[in-house]
Amino acid sequence: MSENTASHASHTVGFIGLGTMGREMAANLLKAGFTVRAFDVRREAVDELAALGAYAAASIADAVDGAHAAITMLPNTPDVEAVVLGEHGLIANVRPGCVVIDMSTIAPAAARSMHELCAQKGIEYVDAPVSGGPGGAKNAALSIMAGGTKQGFEAALPFFRAMGTTITHVGASGAGQTVKLCNQLVCGINIQAICEALALGRASGVDLKQLRDVLLGGSAASWMLDKLGNAMIEGDDSAGFRINLMLKDLRLVQDESYALNVPLPASALVTSQYVDAMAHGEERNGNQALFRVYDRMTAQTAR
Ligand code: NAD
Repeated sequence: MSENTASHASHTVGFIGLGTMGREMAANLLKAGFTVRAFDVRREAVDELAALGAYAAASIADAVDGAHAAITMLPNTPDVEAVVLGEHGLIANVRPGCVVIDMSTIAPAAARSMHELCAQKGIEYVDAPVSGGPGGAKNAALSIMAGGTKQGFEAALPFFRAMGTTITHVGASGAGQTVKLCNQLVCGINIQAICEALALGRASGVDLKQLRDVLLGGSAASWMLDKLGNAMIEGDDSAGFRINLMLKDLRLVQDESYALNVPLPASALVTSQYVDAMAHGEERNGNQALFRVYDRMTAQTAR
């Protein structure tokens, strides 16, 4: 056990939401030496973490019993609100001095509101969404963008260091979620740009794998092209980040556009492409399945 690992042994974290991202993040907290009390509504997800050394919590209250931090990694805003604010939720059950850290992607206004309600009870709430996908989660290489007070950020920092490499306090409560939505806007438009390049290349008869490699070697290179390009070309729709989660994020971007009176036309267009993907039953497929929208528009079904 390293010095760092040993020094974390007395620090307990309640981790709620052990899905694609959460299970890897919780596993890295265990590897870093934290005591992890794991909870998910899916019992099999809890058992998986328990097999790695976590305490299998039976409820939210059990997960945060004695914990120094409570981390949530849940699908959407109502899920986080239920877990934080619910009758049997975090506000009602965390010990004094526990920091509540939400690492899901949710509405900035909801983050600000939960921060305020937690502050009224003397609890720090930090919004800390992440970028880097399941690979970044597995390799403890996430980019973590945090909003909240300086004290809240500092209390969360030892936990962040076990899960990420780029860790930034981007401002007051809600700022982490705003920066994450900016990230998603760039990712969504980029995925659409890649779909269009592949659709054009395919129609012209060029070799798509070669096209991807050439673009990756020049100024069109991107994380999305690197990670999703081959899956688009091969028609592999397996999910890391699902279509339904990206549409959730793009809808949050649209909400911010209306709330702040900032026209975001390219984001609006790609949001509607994701609605098309959802309408064709792609919600549980990976983001690369956006290419199927182009299959349909160009009447192509075979690749
Ligand atoms: P997921 O659906 O795989 O996992 C969510 C987990 O939360 C599930 O295991 C589910 O059973 C659990 N859950 C739901 N409601 C619960 C409740 N009330 N109490 C306890 N557990 C509950 O989602 P994910 O891909 O891990 O994403 C989680 C969040 O992180 C989302 O907000 C997503 O937008 C964001 N995110 C995902 C990725 C990615 O690549 N998957 C990347 C960055 C950010």
